[in-house]
Amino acid sequence: CAACLGRRGGLRAYSALTSNLAPFTNPSEKERNSAVTLVRGEGVHVWDDQGNKYLDGLAGLWSNALGNGNERVIGAAHAQLKKLAYQHTFWNRTTDIAEEYTRRLVDFASHRGVVQTFMSCGGSDANDTNVKLAWYYWNAVGQPSRKTVIARHGAYHGVTITASSMSGLDSIHKGYGPLPLPWVRHVSTPHYWRNGLPGETEEEYSSRLAKELEDLILREGPETIAAFIAEPVMGAGGVIPPPKGYFQKIQPILQKYDILFILDEVITAFGRLGERFGSDFFDIQPDLYTVAKAMSSSYYPLGAALITERVADAIKDQANKFGVFGHGYTYGGHPVACAIGLECLNIYEETSIWDHVKLMTPTFQLTLKQLETHPLVGEVRGEGFMLAIEFVSDKATKAPLGTSVPPATILANECMKNGLLVRSTGNVVVLAPSLVFTMENFQELFSKLKASFDSFD
Ligand code: PLP
Repeated sequence: CAACLGRRGGLRAYSALTSNLAPFTNPSEKERNSAVTLVRGEGVHVWDDQGNKYLDGLAGLWSNALGNGNERVIGAAHAQLKKLAYQHTFWNRTTDIAEEYTRRLVDFASHRGVVQTFMSCGGSDANDTNVKLAWYYWNAVGQPSRKTVIARHGAYHGVTITASSMSGLDSIHKGYGPLPLPWVRHVSTPHYWRNGLPGETEEEYSSRLAKELEDLILREGPETIAAFIAEPVMGAGGVIPPPKGYFQKIQPILQKYDILFILDEVITAFGRLGERFGSDFFDIQPDLYTVAKAMSSSYYPLGAALITERVADAIKDQANKFGVFGHGYTYGGHPVACAIGLECLNIYEETSIWDHVKLMTPTFQLTLKQLETHPLVGEVRGEGFMLAIEFVSDKATKAPLGTSVPPATILANECMKNGLLVRSTGNVVVLAPSLVFTMENFQELFSKLKASFDSFD
């Protein structure tokens, strides 16, 4: 209350909500007063403290793959908490559950050439790990000048200094910038619908982007480039699937200049595109993978760097040169996280969850594609269980609407009133349901989305 905001003992007291500086939230008192407080979840539905029920159209943060209340996952967590709540995996000490889980994870990813894991607590710190692995690799093989990482405008790789430096979104640079980024360069967002030239085919557009990458490498000097990082489908940047032939044209260039490829599969690993990995879907062959989110279905913070033979061998061979691998998180390989990750993996494999996603994808994608007939919708795009609706003021020029409140924000607010959680980012509304979404869940999503669009007209 306002009275509580007076000075107490020299300190300005904060109201209940502003006492937490919330992520990606306007910190003003007014904004925080409209916060929605969720208190309970059951399957793909959640409830707020006013008793309102919502269908979660974003699976938490593209992450709660199994929905809430999965008894098997809860049971695994409970059993591990009782058995061994915590021990680390530093200094050649380990736990049975960390060993069991990481072995299973390597097996699960072995068709991708993965031979090792490095455990983290989420996606950002796994991306930091992958950059350090790339730098370590180049030092190990005697090319320490290779430090630059090439990322893409519009990318989201997380919020640690390393991950946010590689991310190419204004919202996470504004307020801190200009960031000192001597080791990061960005190339274009691969968005054909918005950036393709008149008459240019998707393949030609991909070739143009590949040339842009090669030109940058030559300008910088290949001997200075450590790695290229990309998401299979850009997520937070507005669900942007690659144009045809994109990765097939990018990869030979990386190979030509011997540049490591880090594939950020934080959203796409474990089935979101209807395959085990996004790299299965697009036939990509990176050297390092970043995974998190569905890895634990968000029942616990968990992430990992997945390491292929090329990098793993270099690290092993240099064991005596650098001594210990000087990197590790207190909670990397946490026993409870590993028990949860293992049970999630069991469920995913037993149910072939990616096949369910593949089966339901046409219903999801094609039904919502019809929204392109709406006068304010420029493009509906996506792959698997990732979809974006982009708003424009003019379909021909694709100009965004210059309204003070973007229509994507209005739609997201309407959805919330209609009991559907979605995400708006700029001119885009994003949907990424749980991987267990049934036909009935999709019908509910479509009707709530339609009701929300209707209140627009
Ligand atoms: N990479 C991608 C592609 C992501 O979408 C995210 C989070 O949304 C991250 C990395 C960061 O993961 P975390 O929030 O677990 O640090």
